[in-house]
Formats: sequence, C-alpha cells, structure tokens
Amino acid sequence: MNFNDLGLIDPLLRALRSVEYTRPTPIQSQAIPQILKGKDLIGCAQTGTGKTAAFALPLLQRLYQSTQNRNRGVIRVLVLSPTRELAAQINDNFVAYGRHTGLKSQVIFGGVGQQPQIDGLRRGIDILVATPGRLLDLMNQGYVRLNTIETFVLDEADRMLDMGFIHDVRKVIAKLPTARQTLLFSATMPEAIQDLANSILIDPVRVEVTPQATTVEKIEQSVFFVEKQNKRALLEHLLEDRDIRRVLIFTRTKHGANKLAEQLDRAQIQAEAIHGNKSQTARERALANFKSGKTRVLVATDIAARGIDVDDVTHVINYDLPNEPESYVHRIGRTARAGASGIAYSFCDVEERAYLRDIEKLIRLSVPVAEQNPFASTIPLQVIQTHKPPVRGARDNNARPQQQNRNTSRSNNGAQTDRRPRRNHFRRRENAAS
Ligand code: AMP
Repeated sequence: MNFNDLGLIDPLLRALRSVEYTRPTPIQSQAIPQILKGKDLIGCAQTGTGKTAAFALPLLQRLYQSTQNRNRGVIRVLVLSPTRELAAQINDNFVAYGRHTGLKSQVIFGGVGQQPQIDGLRRGIDILVATPGRLLDLMNQGYVRLNTIETFVLDEADRMLDMGFIHDVRKVIAKLPTARQTLLFSATMPEAIQDLANSILIDPVRVEVTPQATTVEKIEQSVFFVEKQNKRALLEHLLEDRDIRRVLIFTRTKHGANKLAEQLDRAQIQAEAIHGNKSQTARERALANFKSGKTRVLVATDIAARGIDVDDVTHVINYDLPNEPESYVHRIGRTARAGASGIAYSFCDVEERAYLRDIEKLIRLSVPVAEQNPFASTIPLQVIQTHKPPVRGARDNNARPQQQNRNTSRSNNGAQTDRRPRRNHFRRRENAAS
C-alpha cells in the first residue's frame, strides 16, 4: 500500500515526497481512511509509530477540501499534547505536511512569553496545537475561543493522566462544540482513559498497533559509558563472548561503518558493512552472508538497516547512539523479531549523553548501566554536552529544548551499577509543560 491508495490529495502527496515517506506505517494505513470519513477514533499507539501523520494528514485534507466555502484563519482543529516538546513536534509536522495547502498552524505552550503566541493567534490560524495549561490561560484571558473547532485531537492521553493534566483537559473539552470529530491517542488504555474515551467519543473506530513499549521492554538493554577512543577496544572485548552469535552493529555514518568492519576483520572477527553507498549486489551479498552465519557481525547505518529482515539477531550494538531517539527503538527492535527477546548494548561517549537522555524520555525507561565495563568513562555522568554534535546528513532535531540536568541517581563512574528499568521515570518529572 502507498499513500495514493489512501485517497490523499496531491498537495499532501507532494509534501510526503519531500519528507521522503514512501509507505504509510500501519497506524497510518488504518487511521487515515477513517479520519477522512469524519469518524471518531481511538488510536492505541505511541510515539515512533507515525501516529502524528496518521491524524495530521487526513485533518489537513479535510480542512483543505472544505476551506473554499469557509473563512480562512478560524481555528478548526485543536490538538492537545501533554508536553511542549511533543506539541512543538506535532506543529512542525503540520507545517511540513501542509506546506502546499496554504493552511496555517500554531503551537502554544507555557514556560515562554505569551505575547508572540497571542500575536500569532490574532493573525489567524486553522490548526492550534497546545498544552492544556497555556491554552486555558489564553482562553481565560479571552485570546482563544474554541467554538469553531470541528476536530479535537487528544494526544498521549495516558500521559496527560500521569502528569495530572486530566482535569485541565476536561475543562478544555467542556468549551468545545458538541458536534465535532474527536480523536484520542494513547499508548496504554488505563480505566480512567477508557472512561474519558467513553464520555467524549461517539461510536469510535478503534485502531491499535503493537505498542513499541512491549518490544522495548522485552529487550535486555544496557548502556556502556565509554569514551570515543575506547569504543573499539570495548567492542572487541565484548565480542569475545561467543554467545554473541549474530550481531548487528550500528554506526552513525557510512564511513564509520566501513572503517569499523575493516578493523574488525583485521582483528579476525568476520564482519561486513552495509550502507547506501554499496551496490545492490554488495548489499545482498553481505546480508546473505549474515543470514547464513558466514559473517557474525553486520555493521550498518540506520537507513541501510531498514531493509534488513533477519530473525535471529542475538544482539544489537549501538556503537554510536542515534541522534533521533526513534531510531534507537527501530534499531534495538531488530533483536526482538518474531516474538523473540534480545539483547541491546549501547555505547555512549560524553558527546552522546544528550542523545541518551532523549532516548530514555522516549522509551520511558532508564537504560541500566552495564555492570562489566573495563573501559568505563571517567568523566562524571553529570557532564552533558549542551550542544549536540553536528551529524552529517541528519535531520534537524533541534526542536527539542535542551535540558541541563541529568538523572543524578546514576552512579558517578558509569559502571558497576545494577539498575532495573523504571517505567515513566523521566517523562513525568522532567517534561511537564505548564
Ligand atoms: P511519530 O510516531 O508521529 O512521532 O513519528 C515517528 C517518526 O516517524 C517521525 O520521525 C516521523 O517523521 C516518521 N514517520 C512518520 N510516518 C512515516 C512514514 N510513513 N515513513 C517514514 N517515516 C515516517
């Protein structure tokens, strides 16, 4: 299936080509036709599944197709999000997908001055993405009215509940027109969310995709704090363990993948690299060798790994941490295919600590620190780069505000600490928007 099959209009298809999405994700193929029809919907899915596009695309289409006979610049779609980071990301997505539609969206959240937000609202917008606190503030001051809303999206409803925003959410809902389309997305469906859904949705379609959390939790993950120059020695040390039978190693760059495969080969560890600069034949050969067990190690970049479908990868090693946290989930998911569990090791140097923090926020787990790490970094864990290192070919990910404080409960030397994953640890404490 491709996006054409979903009945999307040309301005959206053009935008999708520019962001290089070729195929809809499962939640997109299930949800888009239903939302286009105007149905209410419950989406059981979490970040990383493509759920933002699953609602943004059909909503843009509905607005676009009905805009001719209506006034532009009247808020017709409201999206509520629990955190400012997520709100900003959702708005970015509306902007990217809607670039050829002429529709305008704006994000409002607390913790920053309200005047620019008010000015934006005055200029007229079609789509408003907001955190509940700031929205209520601006409503109370008379800057926002919700009586023209046609579609209301409640995103990450379970986190709204976790973060204590559900009361505010109810206050917002009370101001919405009763005749509207409502979409509710939640990674989990606790009773309180189910009750809320029952009270605000009418005859909803239910769309569920396997929550990635399930996959992530099945994988035994650990992080090795190690400096860049010691990563290879640590890798060779780990590979002495013959239980690591079939291992997929991720590097950030193609050059890095080539270099590492050559170095491993020189150290008598059978390894091949797979990435976009290799010919199709070379890639197929590397993959066949890996599948048959001829090579034990396949070094890959994120893009190349998308096509890798090998069932019994025993380990995934993140030699470099990805700058996009979703990639971490995709990467480690390679070791838990077809219901198997797997093991994922991540190397984290001082420059990558900000990436680790973003990953932990996304997966809602604190990745345990490896117990045995002869190459443990001596740089204290509180040290965190305030500027992410530039990554060649990476998409701009700077929409996420930087946070200076690190989880200080980690051990200082980065080793010898056994900590079990704790769910919902970071998000609630660190991400609360106004
Ligand atoms: P979300 O679950 O909405 O946070 O999306 C997760 C990531 O997947 C984002 O980086 C999106 O840009 C990306 N994404 C969404 N839909 C697609 C698609 N159909 N193909 C490729 N990437 C996608």
